[in-house]
Amino acid sequence: MAENAYEIAQRQFEKAVRYVDLKADIAAYLRVPKRELIVNFPVEMDDDSVRVFTGYRVHHNTALGPTKGGIRYHPDVSLDEVRALAMWMTWKCAVVGLPYGGAKGGVICDPKALSVRELENLTRRYATEISVLMSPQGDIPAPDMGTGEREMAWIMDTYSMHRGYSVPAVVTGKPLAIGGSLGRSEATGRGVMITTLEALKRKNIAVEGVRVVVQGFGKVGAPAAYLIEERGAKIIAVSDAQGGVYNPQGLNARELLAYATTQGTVTGYTKAEPLSNADLLALECEVLMPCALENQITATNAPRVRAKIIAEGANGPLTPEADEILIDKGVFIIPDILCNAGGVTVSYFEWVQDLQSFFWGEDEINERLRQIMVRSFNQILRVSHEKKIDPRTAAQVLGIQRVAEAVRIRGIYP
Ligand code: GLU
Repeated sequence: MAENAYEIAQRQFEKAVRYVDLKADIAAYLRVPKRELIVNFPVEMDDDSVRVFTGYRVHHNTALGPTKGGIRYHPDVSLDEVRALAMWMTWKCAVVGLPYGGAKGGVICDPKALSVRELENLTRRYATEISVLMSPQGDIPAPDMGTGEREMAWIMDTYSMHRGYSVPAVVTGKPLAIGGSLGRSEATGRGVMITTLEALKRKNIAVEGVRVVVQGFGKVGAPAAYLIEERGAKIIAVSDAQGGVYNPQGLNARELLAYATTQGTVTGYTKAEPLSNADLLALECEVLMPCALENQITATNAPRVRAKIIAEGANGPLTPEADEILIDKGVFIIPDILCNAGGVTVSYFEWVQDLQSFFWGEDEINERLRQIMVRSFNQILRVSHEKKIDPRTAAQVLGIQRVAEAVRIRGIYP
């Protein structure tokens, strides 16, 4: 990775903390993760060989409650990346008012190159290794890039086998049949859609016919696309790791998703023209949704971006240099720690439902999610206007303030 995500997270923190009434020593405390676990563990492969994998689980802060955050399986996972993602989870949870601190986990692996059995062995062993930190009261993992319902089910089962009884609340993003929540699989994309509609309102742009470009057509990008399409927007281009497709008349997001599900990629879709990732980012449109990896929009390609609104479905898709270029151009950036917070919000609903063994209907979940996203959006915009700072810095300010207040009230032990 060209840019170090942890350095970026710390630079963002330093920029925001200047607007928070905070003693320097408390700022120094919030600037670093609370605890970091590195695990090297053996996994039995299909050919009977044993391979050693490296994984991480980082807890950034626990002032507001147990730590929450996903687990990433990707070849580029590193301790610094997990630290950054854990820190962003702290501010994200605080921004949307969840009683959680931030965490993240990851395993350096290419899940596409592993068989299902190998993935299961890896997941169960990694879950066992991090179970010294994991519990419904202490740290509750969830899916992130490269993991999903299946992996969460294995983690729930592994933890439960060790306890001797089922503990659904130890992990979220599980299948419905074992204590998952309605609405969870679409929740991140739904939050992206809701915050985008709010941003359009602020810009006085009607959603009808609005041109939307989506980078990354996975668990976040695909629901974000079809949900905003249902509100009247036009999805003109979409890409994944293999390439992109473009149709100025508008794609049918659900049909494209069905195609991508069977083909494993959006490329080759006949009702659109092929398009490179670089050209996709430079398309003229009202809304650009980067829903893939970190550092996709940099000082190099930011000058070519022609969107009016950027909705950060991914974590950290813009570098700080890109941020500045785009802010100067007047682009409205919905920051990741707000824009993609729908996922962890419904994860919180899932955890609450599991703890109570009482499950809610989908309409109730979606409505509660909508209220939280709209309220948080408005709070961030208020801070942004009051302090005359960009929305990302405002979101960080709000998150840091809430965590710092919890630290202040709790005091430093002993
Ligand atoms: N991995 C997701 C995120 O980055 C979801 C975390 C969760 O649900 O705990 O926000």
